[in-house]
Amino acid sequence: MNFESEEEAMKRLGPLYIPVWEHSDETVADAIRMFREKWQPYSKESKQHNILNLVRELIDPAISEYRTHLPAEHLAYFPLPKGLSNYSDLVQSKGFRYAAGQIHSSLREFLDSDAFKEQDVTFIATQDMLKSLFLSCDEKRPRRSRLEPDVYFNTERKTRLCKFCGAPTEFSAFISHWERYGVIDSDEQESSNNIGKISPDLSHTYCLNHRPKLHHGSWNPAYKKAKRSYAQFEQEVLRLRRQVAHPDRPNANSGDTLIDEYFYHFMVDSLLDPTNVAELRELARKMVDSRLTDTKKRILALKKQGMSNHQVGLRMGVITGKQLSNQAVSKALGTIREKFTL
Ligand SMILES: [Zn+2]
Repeated sequence: MNFESEEEAMKRLGPLYIPVWEHSDETVADAIRMFREKWQPYSKESKQHNILNLVRELIDPAISEYRTHLPAEHLAYFPLPKGLSNYSDLVQSKGFRYAAGQIHSSLREFLDSDAFKEQDVTFIATQDMLKSLFLSCDEKRPRRSRLEPDVYFNTERKTRLCKFCGAPTEFSAFISHWERYGVIDSDEQESSNNIGKISPDLSHTYCLNHRPKLHHGSWNPAYKKAKRSYAQFEQEVLRLRRQVAHPDRPNANSGDTLIDEYFYHFMVDSLLDPTNVAELRELARKMVDSRLTDTKKRILALKKQGMSNHQVGLRMGVITGKQLSNQAVSKALGTIREKFTL
């Protein structure tokens, strides 16, 4: 039988894609593959196509089967309260997000405990896969609104990128390291930025550079900085993404013609398209970190129109109410990284 790769499935299913981890339990993985083929008309809101029914039909039996093979030390980290036998029961009483959160915290406890061994990657991968399944279910919109903008955020979460940039989360890095080398190198002598070194607090949200605390416990300045600029970062990602969707015309929809013009010129020769989520996020991160403000983007767009610094300064006065001197314009231009000039 010819299997489709995860990458192909992601392309084909688009926003309907739900990830299947390598090294996860085959029965559960197959159930999720079937689930993502069928779940398009389903949502929490629908009576006729209630998503919980689909979980009961496809996912519960696979998990039950999977649980029968689990040793007791793994079962202890299976977050089901007494009396409940299926995740769907937990979802029914507390919701998808709660179930995902329970899986997440149990997994952390597990990684932290003495029970954890390197060979346990199947258990970790399977639990994490279920967590992302439930998050996907929680975010699933009824069919008619599935092209709403939040689809973009869904896809992003599914590919497990850092909240603040385009790098994979620590956990994803851990899994792909495993895939590549088949071993988790836990040698104490390894440097602390070695992803092979398994740490009990592997982040599902941030990459190694943006994790809130450094491995020796102090706050990470890169995290704080990225947190402060989070709104701006998300905004730049969105503008870049819109622009590459229609590279033939200004399409950033920033609400400002000059900023839209900037994005048009900046991305006109780019080979990126909206599916290059990681690259676009990396670019947005660099844009924010190098302080390419909207004012600087407007100045660059005006220069691109062929204006002198003097004319640019006057125009900025008309737009912002604060005229800029020749000096101020050339100073602003001087601070712009070459990568972002037009
Ligand atoms: Zn990051």
